[in-house]
Amino acid sequence: MRRLRGPLAGTLMAAALLTGCALDSVERPGEKAAERVRSDGSAGERGAGAQPYRRWGLEAPLPPAPKPAVRPPAARAAGPALPPVVRHIRTSDKVVFLTYDDGAEKDPRFVDMVRELRLPVSMFLTDSVVGPGYGHFARLRSVGASIQNHTLDHPALRGLPYAGQRAEICGQQNKLNSRFGVRPRLFRPPYGTYDTTTLRAAADCGIAAVVLWRASMEGTELTFTHGESRLRAGDIVSVASREATGPTLVERTARLLREVQGRGLTVGRLEDYL
Ligand SMILES: [Zn+2]
Repeated sequence: MRRLRGPLAGTLMAAALLTGCALDSVERPGEKAAERVRSDGSAGERGAGAQPYRRWGLEAPLPPAPKPAVRPPAARAAGPALPPVVRHIRTSDKVVFLTYDDGAEKDPRFVDMVRELRLPVSMFLTDSVVGPGYGHFARLRSVGASIQNHTLDHPALRGLPYAGQRAEICGQQNKLNSRFGVRPRLFRPPYGTYDTTTLRAAADCGIAAVVLWRASMEGTELTFTHGESRLRAGDIVSVASREATGPTLVERTARLLREVQGRGLTVGRLEDYL
């Protein structure tokens, strides 16, 4: 996303959990027994593993996201219309959207977390950051995360000529298509900076929406770019990349989820709304 340090520290984005995902919560051997003992009898109702939220530091399960009332349009064809720029989704559904950028952090525990909590997160990937690490994101995708576009090389696009912007966006569309067999519909410009040329290039690369954020989880603090300083329904949240000595991606996500729950919200699938 915005801040880049060292080789690259961006923000990871959230991906979306496939609603119909048939994967059940999975535990490692040896954890089942502990979970059963700890879970005051209620775990038996749905079998071991019915309360994976406890393992991730939550005090209550995340309610499943509601089905959005209106289906999003089908993938749009490349064309002259400019895609919308969104940082917040207008909805009365009690959901926020978790987005992660760049692809620098490849913590296998985050895959476990997404799977067990069925988190519909969106990952906006930059090719030069992911490097040879696409396998990690294939695993994330297999447990419900969505993969979206965050350029090939993470330049600040604003002010660059059309050809360069188009190469960054279309190039990553092609890369992700070859890696995952899908062409992303969503694009996040590095650092959140863009201009009309960016939107034109994104449209020509088949992007349906340019996604920014209203809230950002940096370290353990939630900050807001616009409007009131608390999470509300429809907020798009960017989970920033790790500080050198800061809490891990899993810890930051758990912290954010507790904040989400404290507001009576749950996590929605961004792609269901755009
Ligand atoms: Zn970034």
